[in-house]
Amino acid sequence: MAETAAGSGETTRLTVIGSGDAFSGSGCNAAYLVDERVLIDCGAPVHALLPRAGMSAASIDLVLITHFHADHTYMLPMLLGSRAFTGELRGGLVIGGPPGTKEYVLRLLSTGYGRHIVGLIDESLHLEWVVLQDGADDVVAGYRVRAHAVVHSTGPSLAYTVERDGAAVIGFSGDTTLCPGLRRAIASADVMVCECTGWDGPTEGGHLWRGELEQLIAEYPDTRFVLSHLRTRGPIAGAILAHDLLSLDVSAAAPATR
Ligand SMILES: [Zn+2]
Repeated sequence: MAETAAGSGETTRLTVIGSGDAFSGSGCNAAYLVDERVLIDCGAPVHALLPRAGMSAASIDLVLITHFHADHTYMLPMLLGSRAFTGELRGGLVIGGPPGTKEYVLRLLSTGYGRHIVGLIDESLHLEWVVLQDGADDVVAGYRVRAHAVVHSTGPSLAYTVERDGAAVIGFSGDTTLCPGLRRAIASADVMVCECTGWDGPTEGGHLWRGELEQLIAEYPDTRFVLSHLRTRGPIAGAILAHDLLSLDVSAAAPATR
């Protein structure tokens, strides 16, 4: 069910495909969709889950990778194979991410299915690669994509904002600690999909926890928070708690309140 998140005017459809953290089983692993066209991370079996919400992976034009942890990337070979081999192909596909993304994804493919699959997929999908680093501000596949380096237990790690012309700015934290890059992403986002791995206290592995989210929610009242990458769920004022296949129709905030 779609819920209206904020404001009025042209809407952007945000879908949380996977809302759980890496290991707890509280939800599928990280994957988020903007307008059925931009996928941020691919830790969930996107090609299998989207049809349950009446959507298809065939319309995805751009995949953005936040960092190279398994719970954010290991379903990419299945998504790419689905696009290449099931007749759902619609044009090319752009994959963007930190330096090393191309090598990492090709290694995932060749480890999982052998080198010949890499060639077949590349031939079918006409893969294009975009390297994104801190401060990047590029139009990719019709979307303005801005990247911010964040501090996590592995590097490089990026937060993104994604924006269709005139529509809401949607932010994605990836996995991160409380750091300047995260704050820059939040400050420019109408809606921020933010990880909240820890609940009762600080957690290991370079993640955010509930107390830090409460601080950010208070600091950025013009940004609406959607909490994801959850190990535990409970009440938290001023934020939407994600669940798998949550869809929101997001309107850009009125200029007077931005
Ligand atoms: Zn991570």
